Amino acid sequence: MTVANDIFALFAAHGSAAYGEDVTCAQHSLQTAYLARAAAVPTPLVLAALLHDIGHLIAAVPDDLGDWQADAHHEEVGARWLAAHFGPAIVQPVRLHVAAKRYLCAVDPGYFGTLSKASVYTLKLQGGPMSQGEASRFECNPFHADAIALRRWDDSGKVAGLAIPPLESYRQAIECSTTWSEGQ
Ligand code: FE
Repeated sequence: MTVANDIFALFAAHGSAAYGEDVTCAQHSLQTAYLARAAAVPTPLVLAALLHDIGHLIAAVPDDLGDWQADAHHEEVGARWLAAHFGPAIVQPVRLHVAAKRYLCAVDPGYFGTLSKASVYTLKLQGGPMSQGEASRFECNPFHADAIALRRWDDSGKVAGLAIPPLESYRQAIECSTTWSEGQ
C-alpha cells in the first residue's frame, strides 16, 4: 500500500462530505491544488494545497454547520498524519493554514468579507482574528508565506461545478514527494 493509495482511499471514503460549503471536500481540495498549480509554485506547495484538509477526511466532520460545536483542529490532525509521510514543505503550510486565516483577518481589512459562511462560522471556533502579538509571531515562521498563499487558494477553491484535473493527476507527484523511509 503506497501513501498515494492511502490518500486516494481517504478521498474515496470521505471526500463527498459537504462540510458546510457548496462543494464537497474532495472538490474543494482539488480546486485548491489547481489554483496552486496555476500559480506555478513548487510541487510541495501544490501538494500541501491538495492535502490541506486531509484532517477533515481522517476525522469526518458534520455536513451541517450548526452541528460544529467545537473546533476539530483539522489542520493539526492533517499535519500529524502527513508528517509520517512527507517533509515540512508539505506539512507546515497545512499545519498553518488555519493560523493564516486568523492572521489575514488581523492584517488585511478586506479579507474577512471574502470568507465563506462556513469559514466565518469556524473562525469563531478557531479563536478569531490574531492579536498584534500573534500576528508578529506568525510572520517569524519560515512557512508563513506559503501558508498565506495556500489560504488564499483555499478561500477561492469553493466554486460549484468547476471542471478541474482529477486526483489521479497528482499520483506521481505524491509518490515522488514521499519521504524515503516510507515503504522502503
Ligand atoms: Fe480548505
